[in-house]
Amino acid sequence: MAEAKLIDGKAYAAGLRHRVAKGVADLIAKGGPTPGLATVLMDGDPAGEVYVRSKGKMAAELGMASFDHRLSAETSEAELLALIARLNADPDVHGILVQLPLPKHIDTGHVLLAVDPAKDVDGFHPFNAGRLASVAPGAPLDFPVPCTPLGVSMLLHDVLGSLAGLKALVIGRSNLVGRPVAQLLLRADCTVTIAHSRTRDLAALSRQADIVVAAIGRPEFVRGDWIKPGAAVIDVGINRVPTEDGKSRLVGDVAFAEALKVAGHLTPVPGGVGPMTVACLMFNTWQEARRVAGLPFSSAD
Ligand code: NAP
Repeated sequence: MAEAKLIDGKAYAAGLRHRVAKGVADLIAKGGPTPGLATVLMDGDPAGEVYVRSKGKMAAELGMASFDHRLSAETSEAELLALIARLNADPDVHGILVQLPLPKHIDTGHVLLAVDPAKDVDGFHPFNAGRLASVAPGAPLDFPVPCTPLGVSMLLHDVLGSLAGLKALVIGRSNLVGRPVAQLLLRADCTVTIAHSRTRDLAALSRQADIVVAAIGRPEFVRGDWIKPGAAVIDVGINRVPTEDGKSRLVGDVAFAEALKVAGHLTPVPGGVGPMTVACLMFNTWQEARRVAGLPFSSAD
């Protein structure tokens, strides 16, 4: 059997960023608003620092405004909620991103609920989660959808076209990835199974699937002999594992070298799903600015 075709998320994300940059320029040229992304970071998380900086930089590269809010780790929940209320009311802000995880003294649920659902470019507000859970098959995604799942859906549509009737296995049921991916695949008329840590005989389920999306957080957990020949395999996992020289490298949730020999399409790690997440964040921010300007949402499929 021929080797799987690699799904080049890096190239797809570059194309998506180009589409957003062009869309932003068109919007401004027609007298619309400059899309604005506000990021909120509580001090003390170096990884969050890197993410937030790269999001602000990308927003600027695409012609958007970015508003960077850094709060000390001691900031109270009331102060954070007051900032979110100001950002909700600010017409220059179209997207609000609160970098998670938050310190323990802050209730993440309260914070996610406080963000205006229209500016919830992470798609984590229960209102938007509910909209995704109840969207009709094929209906437009005219509300913010979580970024990584949206990226997964875009890549699958890009390589497979219609997903109607395909058997999809989503491994992982987090609100961040697994559940919204499953909802998007259901909307695309797949027959969806959601697996988790209590699932029995995962390998057998996987062998039946035309699409496998692994969002587990366990290095190389999905083995090559779990994959149906020709299946499309999307590896969302990002795991850092030590190497013999004392350094480390990133691997996904799928045993890449094994899967490459069996799958039809496969995302690498890094360079697969990862670059899609931030590109979809920009896409969602642009979409909200379009909505404010009275324009329809631009298709996400
Ligand atoms: P999470 O909240 O820890 O959820 C992991 C899910 O995997 C849970 O539903 C868990 O089941 C399931 N699971 C754990 N062990 C399992 C096992 N042995 N068999 C079957 N299912 C098992 O993680 P997450 O936030 O969804 O993220 C998943 C992975 O994606 C992580 O590696 C993360 O770094 C990566 N990620 C990547 C991006 C990106 O941009 N590429 C974005 C977000 C996340 P239970 O529900 O039963 O515990």
